[in-house]
Amino acid sequence: MAKTFDAIIIGAGIIGCATSLALGRKGWKVLNLDRLPAAGYGSTSGSCAIIRPYYSTLDGSAMAYESHFYWKHWAEYLGGADVDERGLIEYHNVGSLVMKTEANDYLRPTMALMDRLDSPYSELSPDEIREKLPVWNTESFYPVKRPDDPQFGVANDQPLTGAVLFHAAGYISDPQLATHNIMRAAEHSGGKFRYNAKVVEIRRDGERVCGVTLENGETIGSPVVLNAAGPHSSKVNQMADVEKTMKVKTRALRQEVAHVPLPEGYRLDTACVTSDSDIGLYTRPEQGDALLIGSEDPPCDPHEWVDPDDYNRDFSDQWRVQVLRVCQRVPRLGVPNRMRGVVELYDVTEDWIPIYDRSDLPGFYLAIGTSGNQFKNAPIAGELMADIIEATQNGNDQDANPIDFHLKHIGHTFSSGFYSRLREVNQDSSFSVLG
Ligand SMILES: Cc1cc2nc3c(=O)[nH]c(=O)nc-3n(C[C@H](O)[C@H](O)[C@H](O)COP(=O)(O)OP(=O)(O)OC[C@H]3O[C@@H](n4cnc5c(N)ncnc54)[C@H](O)[C@@H]3O)c2cc1C
Repeated sequence: MAKTFDAIIIGAGIIGCATSLALGRKGWKVLNLDRLPAAGYGSTSGSCAIIRPYYSTLDGSAMAYESHFYWKHWAEYLGGADVDERGLIEYHNVGSLVMKTEANDYLRPTMALMDRLDSPYSELSPDEIREKLPVWNTESFYPVKRPDDPQFGVANDQPLTGAVLFHAAGYISDPQLATHNIMRAAEHSGGKFRYNAKVVEIRRDGERVCGVTLENGETIGSPVVLNAAGPHSSKVNQMADVEKTMKVKTRALRQEVAHVPLPEGYRLDTACVTSDSDIGLYTRPEQGDALLIGSEDPPCDPHEWVDPDDYNRDFSDQWRVQVLRVCQRVPRLGVPNRMRGVVELYDVTEDWIPIYDRSDLPGFYLAIGTSGNQFKNAPIAGELMADIIEATQNGNDQDANPIDFHLKHIGHTFSSGFYSRLREVNQDSSFSVLG
């Protein structure tokens, strides 16, 4: 078998690159393989790349809050400001404004989690919301409806009661460049990357993994193989024959994100991310004076589970549905004639919490099921995966004794068993992209 590496990572998305960097820093010789022509060209490229500290669980929120500090001190994380000839991404730390609604229990549980983590926020009255976002209508339209519902766009008697502005939040406007930054840092740590290299077989030597076979027939040896294949994770797990023993599995979910011109009166100087379960959407400003509109997957919208190699890459009526929902908040937005934005896939687990774990095949690991919400966490996910892989290869039983992981900026430690493939479905989850 040609060439051997300490670890092969299938995927050069943000998760695969971050794991490569973390293993490289431990002195491992790592090779990332990607079927696409460059790093970050998979589902990461379509990410809205919103950074926010609130999830529905304490451990999920802790990891997300910690990630804010990685983005804030990006050059430090990468190991220098000059690692990438293309320059570094910018973190727009503008905050995230979440509407208080019946669906989120007026954010009482979320604020309680933020209090436990000491993550800063401010409560805003409807007047203060309109001051920050002058174009925003603070009526309530709950529950979320589809435009063919006769009640669509008809406001309830009771308007919104307010919102919460979470300060450790914002967005990265170029998720592909963020991945390129990490890939270059990984290369500085000795990592190798090969593109247009599709893995078609996970090779075994007896009961252990021993490498991969590429589509062109080439074999590459390694005692460690990591599945970081994003929405293709289930296909790669099937190659390794590890799926049937997993309690939590993954599948690909189609998503549309609309980009529309900023409405008149939208103030970029006070603008921020918005999350609005009253109308089932999140928004953020986008480069080129655009507003980006993503769905929070309200119950009235069907889920479109797809084969990641065979799905509709054109916009559907869902694009218009999302724009019309924002028009409830911002009537002067209107629906543009030209559809712009992104059609991409989430890799979703049953409880919308990722799997960062070993598998039942010794040497084969999983960093999958990122469920539309792990861009922000990728640097930490990479470090966590590197620790899990190192400990397991050194003889630790990750299932019986999951390692603890310390979040250095916020001083919180959690058990990696939270992300186990063998967990019971986490009933504390929002069961949505909010995690
Ligand atoms: C529309 C959208 C909006 C999102 N918004 C946010 C957000 O606001 N905030 C947030 O935190 N997260 C968000 N996410 C989620 C986040 O972007 C993902 O969790 C993250 O990018 C996943 O990274 P990845 O590396 O696991 O996957 P990918 O980027 O998909 O990388 C996997 C790579 O594996 C490669 N691959 C697959 N199969 C093979 C094979 N057989 N051989 C070789 N290579 C293979 C693929 O080509 C791909 O490049 C969003 C996701 C989407 C789709």
